[in-house]
Amino acid sequence: MKLTVLGCYGPYPAAGGACSGYLLEEDGYRLLIDCGSGVLSRLQRHLKPWELEAVVLSHLHFDHTADLMVMRYALDYARMKGLFPEALPLYSPPETASELQRLLYKELFEPVAIGAAESLQIGPFHFTFMEAVHALPCLAMRVETERGVLVYSGDTEYFDGLIDLAAGADLFLCEANFQEADMAASPANHLSAAQAARLAARAGVKRLLLTHLHPERRPAISLEEAQELYAGAEMAREGESYTVGE
Ligand SMILES: [Zn+2]
Repeated sequence: MKLTVLGCYGPYPAAGGACSGYLLEEDGYRLLIDCGSGVLSRLQRHLKPWELEAVVLSHLHFDHTADLMVMRYALDYARMKGLFPEALPLYSPPETASELQRLLYKELFEPVAIGAAESLQIGPFHFTFMEAVHALPCLAMRVETERGVLVYSGDTEYFDGLIDLAAGADLFLCEANFQEADMAASPANHLSAAQAARLAARAGVKRLLLTHLHPERRPAISLEEAQELYAGAEMAREGESYTVGE
């Protein structure tokens, strides 16, 4: 399984950066997880948006969905040219499916509601979802193929269930919006880099990538705080591709 980080910032991108967007590939099947601002531009370095097989959304906050509103125009263009006869399957949590109505312009997307604790086969990818702890319904996800296991936290506060979901993963893509200096105020909705690292260590994952990075917080500090608890912790790097498993 190949993971390409198209965007790693939240809740807004750094200068020249992009919000959450991750391209997953295996056996020629290509799927996008989340589609925040800046992702559509980055995606086109790899493929045309209408060549995607599916889009999976962790939740419907705009730093994970904004570029879908613009992707509609690309899909509409492709349909007019006869390049895109089918609708693009769009998987998202059901509780907020009504929010999707604005996206369903010209039926370019085919919405599919997914529930927490649900399993789903999408092409070669077997997804298991778990409800995260966030302001909106948000799904953490474990993605397995014959060759590897990726776990993505989505946006979430700390909860022990993530340890089970991430257990033994080849790669754990975990949000780390906060740093220790932020935690005294008990901030809501997100993890700190140290919390991400603690989860990774407890879950025994093989590799940890910190993502959903705040553009105003220095990455060197997040990295140092994470590496105290999980020595191999890395910052997700936009544009970089990672082999997950074999
Ligand atoms: Zn976010």
